Amino acid sequence: MHPLAKMLALVQDTPDKKEAGGVILGRHILDSTDIVVDEITTVMKGDTQGRFHFRRRRRRHQQAIDKFWQDSKGTCTYLGEWHTHPEPHPTPSFVDLNNWKRKLREDVFAGENLYFIILGVETMRVWEGCRTGTICQLIGEFPLRRIHNVENKDSP
Ligand SMILES: [Zn+2]
Repeated sequence: MHPLAKMLALVQDTPDKKEAGGVILGRHILDSTDIVVDEITTVMKGDTQGRFHFRRRRRRHQQAIDKFWQDSKGTCTYLGEWHTHPEPHPTPSFVDLNNWKRKLREDVFAGENLYFIILGVETMRVWEGCRTGTICQLIGEFPLRRIHNVENKDSP
């Protein structure tokens, strides 16, 4: 399944859906600031989900990162994280911002940046954080309706 389709399936568009998330895996495109998201992890055994919180256990997601790295012969790597929010247009919580800062400081990653995606119910937003910076910048905003249309066009 396309990574976007996996994320869209977990959007909190009904009251019973809990926060979900995982890591983003993909490639940095040489000589540009572009990235390609090849795969994501979603909720795994051991993760804690609530309507307003999601906490992932490090170990299983790390195993997925390692396997993906090996299978791609080292071309695909850890790019960041994604999760859902039960609000139309997502804003990072205080906890999110602290988590992102900690990841930029402590996680092992290639290049200078990590990317953080939050899917609200109507929009998906992307933030970029820099290894040396302290603020994550909003770099993209995509209406989910439009993404759904792209997805539908792709499939036969
Ligand atoms: Zn959050």
